[in-house]
Amino acid sequence: MKKSIIAKKKFGQNFLKDKNILSMIIQSMPKNSNHIVEIGPGLGDLTENLVKYKDTTAYEVDTDLIAVLKSKFAIEIENKRFELIHTDVLKAWDEKGSLYKSKYDLIANLPYYIATNIILRAFEDINCENIIVMIQREVAQKFTAKVNNKEYSSLSIITELVSKEARILFDVPPESFDPPPKVVSSILYISKKEKVELDKDFLKFLKVCFSQPRKKLFKNLSGLYKKEFLSNIYNELNIKETLRPHEVDVSLYSQMYTKVKNGKQ
Ligand code: SAM
Repeated sequence: MKKSIIAKKKFGQNFLKDKNILSMIIQSMPKNSNHIVEIGPGLGDLTENLVKYKDTTAYEVDTDLIAVLKSKFAIEIENKRFELIHTDVLKAWDEKGSLYKSKYDLIANLPYYIATNIILRAFEDINCENIIVMIQREVAQKFTAKVNNKEYSSLSIITELVSKEARILFDVPPESFDPPPKVVSSILYISKKEKVELDKDFLKFLKVCFSQPRKKLFKNLSGLYKKEFLSNIYNELNIKETLRPHEVDVSLYSQMYTKVKNGKQ
């Protein structure tokens, strides 16, 4: 790392230095990749590889890094192969709705403190088609977990609803970064369905279902609905009251939600 740049914890800065991992990320990109959007180009190590591959737009919040990136990519900026936007990416989403004007793939080593939020925003962004991001392994497991797995969560269900494919490509050890993070990281790959419509009320319902993930689902729901009302729904759907939230699949959650929404307490 250049001596003048000190990694800032508040921006989740862990710079990826391992050249093998950088090339493995590039190799895992879709063959006919769209325009690329990178969030948090940092010192530009991943960016350098991305720009060689495809035109790239990057969002960076840290003023000190903007200066480094402007000088490093002066030619690419001039040639319009690289567009650098100095802002908080979540604000950009609030203001513009989408991070790019047409189809794009999101490729990034994400700042972990807002990684989940960023992926959920990418799910809603109609122009985002594929997501290849480095995040904390534990969080990647939550996105990709299948029913009956202890990690199965509302994030797993939302991912099932929006994606054609979602999997962890490979793990990355802390030594691959400078400074090393305290956790193991993973590259998460998600290919989105063409049409994604997330019902906000269904998402709220899921939040209640998983409010205490290790308790019975019935108990979590009875915070919001009368027990008798719930028992009737459980009977109609022929499900046991002992089920835990991670033991119910997405189709059963949808059926429960429809009954809850249409029923009278
Ligand atoms: N891409 C670089 C790499 O792989 O070495 C840096 C990755 S580092 C984990 C996360 C990057 O995200 C940092 O450059 C940080 O400044 C940037 N960042 C943090 N919060 C951000 C935000 N809200 N909007 C845009 N960039 C952000």
